[in-house]
Amino acid sequence: MFSLGDLYQQVIIDHTKSPRNFGKLDPCNHDAEGYNPLCGDQLHVYVQVNDSNIIENIKFEGQGCSISTASASLMTESLKGKSLADFERLFDAFHKMATADLSEQPDQDVLGKLAVLAGVKEFPSRIKCATLCWHTLKSAIDDAAEPARTE
Ligand code: ZN
Repeated sequence: MFSLGDLYQQVIIDHTKSPRNFGKLDPCNHDAEGYNPLCGDQLHVYVQVNDSNIIENIKFEGQGCSISTASASLMTESLKGKSLADFERLFDAFHKMATADLSEQPDQDVLGKLAVLAGVKEFPSRIKCATLCWHTLKSAIDDAAEPARTE
Protein backbone atom coordinates (compact mmCIF):
# COMPACT_ATOMS: atom_id res chain seq x y z
CA MET A 1 0.00 0.00 0.00
CA PHE A 2 1.10 3.51 -0.84
CA SER A 3 2.34 5.35 2.20
CA LEU A 4 2.63 9.09 2.12
CA GLY A 5 5.00 8.98 5.09
CA ASP A 6 7.49 6.84 3.17
CA LEU A 7 7.37 9.14 0.18
CA TYR A 8 8.01 12.15 2.39
CA GLN A 9 10.91 10.39 4.01
CA GLN A 10 12.43 9.41 0.66
CA VAL A 11 12.37 12.98 -0.62
CA ILE A 12 13.96 14.25 2.58
CA ILE A 13 16.68 11.59 2.51
CA ASP A 14 17.38 12.33 -1.15
CA HIS A 15 17.76 16.08 -0.49
CA THR A 16 19.92 15.44 2.58
CA LYS A 17 22.28 13.13 0.71
CA SER A 18 22.57 15.31 -2.37
CA PRO A 19 21.48 18.83 -1.53
CA ARG A 20 20.53 20.96 -4.53
CA ASN A 21 22.14 24.37 -5.04
CA PHE A 22 24.76 23.73 -2.37
CA GLY A 23 27.76 26.07 -2.38
CA LYS A 24 28.67 29.71 -2.52
CA LEU A 25 26.99 31.97 -5.07
CA ASP A 26 29.33 34.54 -6.57
CA PRO A 27 28.27 37.13 -7.52
CA CYS A 28 25.19 37.56 -5.38
CA ASN A 29 23.42 40.73 -4.28
CA HIS A 30 21.95 39.46 -0.99
CA ASP A 31 23.23 36.98 1.55
CA ALA A 32 22.76 36.21 5.21
CA GLU A 33 23.70 33.77 7.91
CA GLY A 34 21.29 31.84 10.04
CA TYR A 35 21.73 29.89 13.24
CA ASN A 36 19.46 27.56 15.14
CA PRO A 37 20.99 27.21 18.61
CA LEU A 38 18.51 24.51 19.61
CA CYS A 39 20.04 22.07 17.16
CA GLY A 40 23.29 23.73 16.10
CA ASP A 41 22.25 24.20 12.46
CA GLN A 42 24.21 26.87 10.63
CA LEU A 43 23.33 28.15 7.19
CA HIS A 44 24.56 30.78 4.78
CA VAL A 45 22.08 31.68 2.05
CA TYR A 46 23.13 33.57 -1.10
CA VAL A 47 20.66 35.04 -3.53
CA GLN A 48 20.82 36.99 -6.77
CA VAL A 49 17.70 39.09 -7.37
CA ASN A 50 17.35 40.97 -10.68
CA ASP A 51 15.78 44.39 -11.41
CA SER A 52 12.39 42.77 -11.99
CA ASN A 53 12.47 41.27 -8.46
CA ILE A 54 13.00 37.76 -9.79
CA ILE A 55 15.23 35.36 -7.87
CA GLU A 56 17.68 34.53 -10.63
CA ASN A 57 19.83 32.25 -8.55
CA ILE A 58 19.98 31.00 -5.00
CA LYS A 59 22.44 28.79 -3.16
CA PHE A 60 23.26 27.82 0.38
CA GLU A 61 26.11 26.42 2.41
CA GLY A 62 26.42 25.35 5.98
CA GLN A 63 26.28 22.51 8.39
CA GLY A 64 23.20 21.19 9.98
CA CYS A 65 20.98 18.23 10.61
CA SER A 66 19.20 16.38 7.84
CA ILE A 67 15.99 18.36 8.22
CA SER A 68 17.71 21.75 7.96
CA THR A 69 19.73 20.61 4.93
CA ALA A 70 16.76 19.04 3.16
CA SER A 71 14.62 22.08 3.88
CA ALA A 72 17.23 24.50 2.47
CA SER A 73 17.71 22.28 -0.57
CA LEU A 74 13.97 22.12 -1.24
CA MET A 75 13.63 25.86 -0.66
CA THR A 76 16.31 26.79 -3.19
CA GLU A 77 14.81 24.41 -5.72
CA SER A 78 11.34 25.89 -5.25
CA LEU A 79 12.38 29.53 -5.43
CA LYS A 80 14.78 29.69 -8.37
CA GLY A 81 13.12 31.79 -11.07
CA LYS A 82 10.33 32.95 -8.74
CA SER A 83 9.48 36.53 -7.81
CA LEU A 84 9.95 38.10 -4.38
CA ALA A 85 6.14 38.17 -4.10
CA ASP A 86 6.13 34.39 -4.64
CA PHE A 87 8.76 34.10 -1.91
CA GLU A 88 6.56 36.01 0.55
CA ARG A 89 3.61 33.78 -0.30
CA LEU A 90 5.64 30.58 0.13
CA PHE A 91 7.27 31.87 3.31
CA ASP A 92 3.83 32.39 4.87
CA ALA A 93 2.49 29.06 3.59
CA PHE A 94 5.54 27.17 4.83
CA HIS A 95 5.48 28.81 8.22
CA LYS A 96 1.78 28.07 8.54
CA MET A 97 2.35 24.44 7.55
CA ALA A 98 5.17 23.95 10.06
CA THR A 99 3.21 25.41 12.95
CA ALA A 100 -0.32 24.21 12.08
CA ASP A 101 -2.35 21.66 14.00
CA LEU A 102 -1.44 18.07 13.23
CA SER A 103 -4.87 17.50 11.73
CA GLU A 104 -4.48 20.31 9.21
CA GLN A 105 -3.44 19.31 5.71
CA PRO A 106 -0.72 21.40 4.03
CA ASP A 107 -1.79 23.58 1.10
CA GLN A 108 -0.16 21.48 -1.58
CA ASP A 109 -1.31 23.78 -4.40
CA VAL A 110 0.86 26.55 -3.01
CA LEU A 111 3.62 24.49 -1.41
CA GLY A 112 4.18 21.79 -4.03
CA LYS A 113 7.12 19.60 -3.05
CA LEU A 114 7.72 21.65 0.11
CA ALA A 115 4.73 19.87 1.62
CA VAL A 116 7.00 16.87 2.30
CA LEU A 117 8.26 18.78 5.34
CA ALA A 118 4.79 18.93 6.90
CA GLY A 119 5.80 15.95 9.05
CA VAL A 120 8.13 18.10 11.16
CA LYS A 121 5.22 19.48 13.14
CA GLU A 122 5.02 16.09 14.84
CA PHE A 123 8.45 16.88 16.27
CA PRO A 124 8.29 20.38 17.76
CA SER A 125 12.05 20.50 18.33
CA ARG A 126 12.63 20.04 14.58
CA ILE A 127 10.29 22.78 13.38
CA LYS A 128 13.05 25.36 13.72
CA CYS A 129 15.41 23.15 11.72
CA ALA A 130 12.91 23.31 8.85
CA THR A 131 12.15 27.02 9.08
CA LEU A 132 15.75 28.23 9.61
CA CYS A 133 16.52 28.54 5.88
CA TRP A 134 13.36 30.56 5.28
CA HIS A 135 14.19 33.02 8.07
CA THR A 136 17.75 33.25 6.77
CA LEU A 137 16.60 34.00 3.23
CA LYS A 138 14.18 36.60 4.56
CA SER A 139 16.94 38.43 6.39
CA ALA A 140 19.13 38.20 3.27
CA ILE A 141 16.42 39.81 1.13
CA ASP A 142 15.68 42.41 3.82
CA ASP A 143 19.43 43.07 4.07
CA ALA A 144 19.25 42.61 7.82
CA ALA A 145 22.43 43.49 9.66
CA GLU A 146 22.02 40.79 12.29
CA PRO A 147 22.24 37.07 11.50
CA ALA A 148 18.91 35.26 11.48
CA ARG A 149 18.28 33.23 14.62
CA THR A 150 15.45 30.94 15.38
CA GLU A 151 15.66 31.77 19.08
ZN1 ZN B 1 18.45 20.81 13.04
